[in-house]
Amino acid sequence: SREVWPVAYPRGEVRPADFRLVDVPVPEPGTGEVLVRNTWTSVDAALRLRLRETAPPGYFPAFPLGRPLDGVMTVGEVVASHADGFAAGDTVWHAAGWRDYAVVAAGQPALGGVGTLRRLDVRAAPAQAYLGALGANGLTAYAGLLHVAGLRDGDVVWVSAAAGAVGSLVAQIAKLRGHRVIGSAGSAAKVRYLLDEVGVDAAFDYRAGPLPDLLAEAAPDGVDVYFDNVGGDHLRAAIGALRPHGRVAICGMISEYAAERSAPGPDNLMLAVTKSLTIRGFRASAMAHLIPEMTREVGAWIRAGRLRYRETVVDGLERAPAALAGLLRGDNTGKTLVRITR
Ligand code: NDP
Repeated sequence: SREVWPVAYPRGEVRPADFRLVDVPVPEPGTGEVLVRNTWTSVDAALRLRLRETAPPGYFPAFPLGRPLDGVMTVGEVVASHADGFAAGDTVWHAAGWRDYAVVAAGQPALGGVGTLRRLDVRAAPAQAYLGALGANGLTAYAGLLHVAGLRDGDVVWVSAAAGAVGSLVAQIAKLRGHRVIGSAGSAAKVRYLLDEVGVDAAFDYRAGPLPDLLAEAAPDGVDVYFDNVGGDHLRAAIGALRPHGRVAICGMISEYAAERSAPGPDNLMLAVTKSLTIRGFRASAMAHLIPEMTREVGAWIRAGRLRYRETVVDGLERAPAALAGLLRGDNTGKTLVRITR
C-alpha cells in the first residue's frame, strides 16, 4: 500500500521532491474501525497552508513531515468493517487521503466534522463528486455565499478564482439565485469557460491589466458582495469597488499561501468605515451542520442540469504532489482530483 508523505516544507512553489511515495503494509482495522481502499483523493488550495513549519494561528496544524497527511478529503470503498453502520462495499468519504488504504474510526470527528467517515449515495452522483460540488467545496461555496455574505435581492456579486473548484460553484449558485455575477480568473481560456459554461454575466483575466480598472469595466456600478478566494490586490480592489453596505466573505487568500511572511493589509480599509462594509471570514469546517441542506439543494440543481462542474483529473497517487503544484499555479479548471484506481 502506498502513501504520499511530505518530507520537506516547500519554499515558494510546491515541488514533487518535497514529498515521498512510501510503501507500507495494508493496515488492519480494529474495533469500531473500517479499512477503506481509496479510489479518488482531493487536491485543495488550503493544503499549502499546512505544508509550512507553522500553519496560521487557529487553523489546522501544520502537517508533520515523514507521516501521511491526515486531513485531506478522499473517497473509497470499505473493504472490511468492524464498525456499526458500515459494511464492505460501502462507498464512503473520510479525511485520510493521499494513500491507497486507510483505517478510519467511525464517528471520529475529522476536519471539524466535515471529514468524519460518511457513507455516500453513489446512485445520486459518482463518488468523486463528493470531493467537489457535493462535498467540502459545495459546502464552502454554499455556506459562504448564502450564510456568510448574506446575499440580498439585487446584489451584484464578484467571485475571484472563479474558474476553480469553490469559485465556479459560488458563481453558479449566485446565478441560480438571480444575481448579476462577475468572475475573474488567470487566463483567457478560463474567462471563456466562465462566460460559456459557468454562465457569469462578465468575466476578466486579472493578469490583463490593473485590477481596479478591469473590475470597473466588468462592474461599472460597483459590487455588493465580494467572495474572496485570493486576498491581496483582489481584496483591495473589492474594497474600492464595493457599494455602501457591501459585504465580503473571506473564504481564502491563495495569493499569500506560499509567502514566507504575511503581506501588509489593504491600504484602503478606511473605505470600510465610509461605506459601512462588512468583512467576514468563515471556515466551512465549522459548518458541517449545513451538509444535509447543501447536499439537498446542490444535488437538486445538479440533477436538474442547472449546476455543472468540471474536473481536472490527474491519474496516479504518485502524481498528487504535481497535481497540488499545478493547482497552486492555476493549471486546473474546476475541481482538482487524483484518481488512485479506476
Ligand atoms: P481552486 O480550484 O480554486 O484552485 C486555486 C486557483 O487559485 C487556481 O486555479 C488559480 O487560478 C488561483 N490562483 C492561484 N494563485 C493565485 C494568485 N496569486 N492570484 C489569483 N489567483 C490565484 O482551489 P480551491 O477551490 O481548493 O480553493 C479556492 C479558495 O477557497 C482558496 O483560497 C482556499 O483556501 C479556499 N477555501 C476555503 C475554505 C474555507 O473553509 N474557508 C474551504 C475550502 C477552500 P487562476 O488561473 O485563476 O489564477
